Amino acid sequence: MFKHLSNEESLQKAIGVFEYAKKHSAFYNEKYKSIASVSTYDDWLKVPILTKDELFNNSYPKSESMLTLEMPLKETIMTSTGGSTGLARYTMLTYREWDAFLQRQADALRLMGITPEDCVANLFVAGSLWPSFIALHDNIRLIGANHLPISANIDFDKMLAYIMEFKPTVLLSLPTVFVILADKILQQNLKVDFVKIIGYAGEHMSEMIRHHLRKAFGEKVKIESLAYTSADCGLIGYQCDSCASNEYHLPTDFQFVELYNFEENRVCKPGETGEVLITNLERLSQPIIRYRIGDVAKWTGKPCSCGDKNPTFIIGGRAGDDFKIGGAYISMDTVEKSFSDYVSTHGISANYQFILEDLSNGNLNIMLKIESSNPEDSKQLIGNIKNNIKTNINDIKVGEEMGLVSLDVEFVDLGVLPRSPITGKVKRLNDKRVK
Ligand SMILES: [Zn+2]
Repeated sequence: MFKHLSNEESLQKAIGVFEYAKKHSAFYNEKYKSIASVSTYDDWLKVPILTKDELFNNSYPKSESMLTLEMPLKETIMTSTGGSTGLARYTMLTYREWDAFLQRQADALRLMGITPEDCVANLFVAGSLWPSFIALHDNIRLIGANHLPISANIDFDKMLAYIMEFKPTVLLSLPTVFVILADKILQQNLKVDFVKIIGYAGEHMSEMIRHHLRKAFGEKVKIESLAYTSADCGLIGYQCDSCASNEYHLPTDFQFVELYNFEENRVCKPGETGEVLITNLERLSQPIIRYRIGDVAKWTGKPCSCGDKNPTFIIGGRAGDDFKIGGAYISMDTVEKSFSDYVSTHGISANYQFILEDLSNGNLNIMLKIESSNPEDSKQLIGNIKNNIKTNINDIKVGEEMGLVSLDVEFVDLGVLPRSPITGKVKRLNDKRVK
């Protein structure tokens, strides 16, 4: 379904984008003024990297300098990456580019097993320029499947009522939304055996959450990432049935991807982890060339057993999912491990927030808030969870013994933890010490 280009063919397309950008965009014309021409990969290595700051400061509507289009704009769509106004990053695509992005995403959904016979519930938040809901609307139509545009803008009881009435075979949303649906299904003891695929995006799906979803939706439900995508570049990775949970095929006719070791200033060898540099091969209205996207990955260097010739890579975690106590970095997995055994029992949800806050006297206040369909019943596990946290994170144990750290666990009603009004995500780590 996905075309395959050799590395050389993909590079030549990337060079075409480079030449177009240099000619038609003021920003790139200036950025590349010392590079006369590029024809080989050795030449390509001299093309300077595009940073997040450069993209933020030179993108439309803040600036027109990266654009290759004539003003006023025609036939375009604006989307946002979801931050609050002012900090949000916006992406402008022409309809032609939007269609190219969607066709790749639709192919990824077909590979997941979604067919025209399926009924697909679209449970993303709509509005605020957030693209997921409308992009999926178009994707589901491209596949020819039946669409239930429920959204996550409505209350969860109403969402569940639609699901029970229409019995969709596919649910698409954020892990946060699936967790609360699972909480409500378990609370009401509903039989939900009609869902065959849960497709997620936007957040990490931990083992704890997968386990919780299986309790509600049954052991056979397929839980898969929709794809590895970015607003600026579209689909960067898609999964076949042979891919591990963080493994993706590269669409070689759509992106030219390099993995780069910045410490040693060189391209990574197969199996070596490096930063993803991405050049989109079809976005010409505002080209994206050697963009340092902020993810790390490594090439597997092995052919995939599915027969697809597009190379596979394994994506590493994004930064920002761990916190610091007493000089050591601690991952959120360690926090989850402290209560994951109790999730789906006593009403306990997999939606939580871990809050770290400095008090005015210099002490550290740590609070774990977990949603529950029965907070009274869940309370009996507070002592165990606190002990588990202290066992798993010695610095918290020592800090508490010295009177420098206070640790509390609290159960709150379903749906009350603060959610982003734009994306609907619950912020699992809320480290108020980090500015
Ligand atoms: Zn494969």
